Amino acid sequence: MATHAEPEIWFLTGSQAMYGEDTLRQVAEQSRQIASALDGAPGIPARIVWKPVLTTSADILRTCRDAAAAGAVGVIAWMHTFSPAKMWIGGLDALRTPLLHLHTQANVQLPWDEIDMDFMNLNQAAHGDREFGFIQTRLGVARKTVAGHVSDPRVIARVGAWARAARGWSAMRSLRLARFGDNMRDVAVTEGDKVEAELRFGVSVNTYGVNDLVQVVGQVTDAEVDDLVKEYDDSYRLVPELRVDGDRHESLRYAARLELGLRAFLEAGGFRAFTTNFEDLGGLRQLPGIAVQRLMADGYGFGGEGDWKTSVLVHTLKAMAVGVEGGTSFMEDYTYDLTPGRELILGAHMLEVCPSIAAQTPSVEIHPLSIGGREDPVRMVFDARPGPAVVLGLADMGERFRFVANEVDVVPPPQPLRRLPVARAVWRPRPHLAGSAEAWITAGAPHHTVLSQAVGVEELHDLAEMSRTELVVIDADTDPRRFADQLRWGQAYYRLAKGF
Ligand code: MN
Repeated sequence: MATHAEPEIWFLTGSQAMYGEDTLRQVAEQSRQIASALDGAPGIPARIVWKPVLTTSADILRTCRDAAAAGAVGVIAWMHTFSPAKMWIGGLDALRTPLLHLHTQANVQLPWDEIDMDFMNLNQAAHGDREFGFIQTRLGVARKTVAGHVSDPRVIARVGAWARAARGWSAMRSLRLARFGDNMRDVAVTEGDKVEAELRFGVSVNTYGVNDLVQVVGQVTDAEVDDLVKEYDDSYRLVPELRVDGDRHESLRYAARLELGLRAFLEAGGFRAFTTNFEDLGGLRQLPGIAVQRLMADGYGFGGEGDWKTSVLVHTLKAMAVGVEGGTSFMEDYTYDLTPGRELILGAHMLEVCPSIAAQTPSVEIHPLSIGGREDPVRMVFDARPGPAVVLGLADMGERFRFVANEVDVVPPPQPLRRLPVARAVWRPRPHLAGSAEAWITAGAPHHTVLSQAVGVEELHDLAEMSRTELVVIDADTDPRRFADQLRWGQAYYRLAKGF
């Protein structure tokens, strides 16, 4: 059941005045029932708010504008009867809220025995929604179309996926991202057009001098550090050297200070995502490890080496994943096991993998970091929980952005990783390692990604539609040659689509 903390999705019903009061009263009553069934569905993470039946272009335009003004994250439309679609031109043209066209009807079975012209007059979605489909396509309105009765769990699941995407889109539209330092020197794929990103996705990306953060870290009190260190001790397995009586306890205290400073900086600025760069740590004594990991677990987006695009995705997918089992993390394809028939990818990062994907209670450890030239950083170490997941990357192709997703299966490591001092995930990509890697590389997709066990390809499709951004999917059916063709067609389409 949706709670009041959840965002609103408005339910709009189209009709026309011609039917008369009695029919319109039944339209209102039955559309309320449909909206109520959606509102009560646990798989739809939003309040579904029914709106009075729309029968004029003025009402439709006002409602479409009001939806945005009221902060609704989405609009669902259904034409129970016939709603002549020229009435919808102004409203759909002004609509700034993601749209789902629910092609449904009040009844499941036809009352074959009793059906008469009154019934036919009322239950016309079969052609009323086709009229509505025409005008949406004619106007080029981005939307998702879902056909079926609301008592069908597949319909609820598809509406739920779209509602999740709408929540992610809403989070992205209002996201503010702080970069501590710039891009890792000479790295190409983590670069990108921040002006285009703000236009396309709504995200505001700005850089701060890392010493601005150092100053906030310096203001953290010892008492705050005491409390957070205790929380670490209660929540994780601390290695002996980091415990209160351990000879490296001071490093844990500094890591806690870093977390408190980062958190304070982000909260004060209204930032829900950030990046760091190990080449630009200013007066920071450690590269933030456990701090970044715990902030990600609280929903913050993160990207290493100044990678703001992946940081945006981490936050967005976490917003989409609300209430779903499974975690979402920043990730990097690190190294392979190429044993024939048992090929695997080992994914990790220097430190920054989110404990929301952990299979077991993380251990908090301290080890040297061979790059960055600072003190040894404290980090959480764990394996990722096995199960299906999706890996998503965002590339800036120069003239536009491209999402690339790969369906994967996270598996337990074939052997315990006794000496690897970082959190990691081991997965088998679909269709297989060579097919996945060839397709991924052909698409120019990045090595930094988001790995999510909570968001699937359907949600990503819906997000791509809302943002009018290309999404290419690598899955069990991917054939690398056809995939390369698909990229070529997409290239032509997206160039042409700019003129549409
Ligand atoms: Mn990296």
